[in-house]
Amino acid sequence: MKPDEERYRKLIEERICSHCIDAGEGGMCHISIRQECAVQRFIPGIIEAVESVESPSMEPYENMLRRIVCESCAHQSSNGKCIVRDELDCALDRYFPLIVQVIEEARRAR
Ligand code: SF4
Ligand code: SF4
Repeated sequence: MKPDEERYRKLIEERICSHCIDAGEGGMCHISIRQECAVQRFIPGIIEAVESVESPSMEPYENMLRRIVCESCAHQSSNGKCIVRDELDCALDRYFPLIVQVIEEARRAR
């Protein structure tokens, strides 16, 4: 694991899990192992997607996320559709703007 990956993972857990609708008291995650959160599962791809963009707009970040992460996720079909995303059940998609903000702040502070 790269040093940045561990740092980003901690920041994301502090800033995103504490707001997540799937977290209970103290930010403890309530989703089951079977569901597995895409934020946790795809941390390296999320970092790669965010770090390869620098834009005031969210659209290029979202496009990069779809290309690097969603295309390798079993939930996305070959036509680019994702039912989990459409039903607002993907924590990664729900909190992606906040995740971008966290990574960009850390990148600027380097
Ligand atoms: S679902 Fe993901 S983002 Fe939400 S609390 Fe669990 S690990 Fe954190
Ligand atoms: S939006 Fe869908 S395809 Fe993308 S990570 Fe979430 S569940 Fe997977």
